[in-house]
Amino acid sequence: MLALSKFYSFRYTVLRRWYKVLAIETSCDDTCVAILDRKSPIEPPNTIVHLKETLNSASIGGIIPTRAHLHHQQYIGPVVHRALQLAGVANVDLVCVTRGPGMPGSLSGGLDFAKGLAVAWKKPYVGVHHMLGHLLVARMLNNGRNPSFPFVSLLVSGGHTIFVLSRSCIDHEILCDTLDIAVGDSLDKCGREIGIRGNMIAKEMESFIKQAPLRVDIPMRLPNPLKNKSTRVDIQAFSFAPFITALKSNLTKPLSEYKEDEVRSIAYQTQEAIFYHLVTKLKLVIRLNREKFEGVSSFVLSGGVGANARLRNLLEIELHDTFDNFCYPPLELCSDNAIMIGWAGIELFENQSLTTDLYATPIRKWPLTQLLKVPCWKLIE
Ligand code: AMP
Ligand code: ZN
Repeated sequence: MLALSKFYSFRYTVLRRWYKVLAIETSCDDTCVAILDRKSPIEPPNTIVHLKETLNSASIGGIIPTRAHLHHQQYIGPVVHRALQLAGVANVDLVCVTRGPGMPGSLSGGLDFAKGLAVAWKKPYVGVHHMLGHLLVARMLNNGRNPSFPFVSLLVSGGHTIFVLSRSCIDHEILCDTLDIAVGDSLDKCGREIGIRGNMIAKEMESFIKQAPLRVDIPMRLPNPLKNKSTRVDIQAFSFAPFITALKSNLTKPLSEYKEDEVRSIAYQTQEAIFYHLVTKLKLVIRLNREKFEGVSSFVLSGGVGANARLRNLLEIELHDTFDNFCYPPLELCSDNAIMIGWAGIELFENQSLTTDLYATPIRKWPLTQLLKVPCWKLIE
């Protein structure tokens, strides 16, 4: 009887859309925890607290999976504890956690903890696809620009460059992907070649370009990869690795012999060439798949590189014929965070009546197109 009344009281809070959510993201090297307050079905949830503990890998030059696993094991307890304290709550009504794709060790740090909390609190939990978080987070914005389905997203980050058509929160089609490295990775590596330093080199490169007017023009030959030639036409893919090789071959003397204005010209042209490649391929995909874009009016630009003002400007100029609404989620929601996992979990829970059962394990490779084709989804009766 007690269990039944608890069930009804939970349904009641859910039907009134008045519940709190704990969200956990540990797919890579950030231990992220957020607590969201779902106050109303028409308002975006309030973020009561969002905490992030990043593994320091700077000295190693890459993420070592075993170190990331240990990092999450070490931090998930204290970070969740602190989040609950800061929010002034002892528990929540729903737990959302990244289940994949990602490094299994990292994912299990968050997933196992989330399952433990769900059992202890007798609450449901949702195992969320990491990329779904990136794709849906624009829908929780409160700026009148949040996209409704169908919409497209260009996700441009240090690890991804994908152009995705989202028809519903469970129906996504990747229209274009990179054949080699991500755009952010390419920009960072090119920036490093010309002596730009910092945590996010592409961001520093943008500031460096803007620091002074372009006064000199260094002649450069940069590629637009995957162009048509006799053996292949209309390749619907991106490729960003060739820019690094091309940039190196354009440097005809030691870096120290270039004046600052000359380096600025090189940085500008490299960034332009990389963004021009992005836009070329987007236009090709749109031209070759016209029917898929019927009814699509919103274009979401997400991921760290999406913060670049020149990229935003270029996209609006080049794609204004196809889209009416250009939507830019704030940077803290674009890079990895737990808020997006909480929001994607809320969408799955409210719109699809989905939760996850306790047998769920991390999923290392989980194509977006196979969102519901993995075990352990559980329909709320
Ligand atoms: P993310 O992987 O989403 O965390 O984004 C990190 C990537 O975004 C790195 O490659 C950064 O250098 C890049 N990034 C951040 N800000 C900018 C910016 N303003 N312009 C270009 N790239 C940027
Ligand atoms: Zn991510």
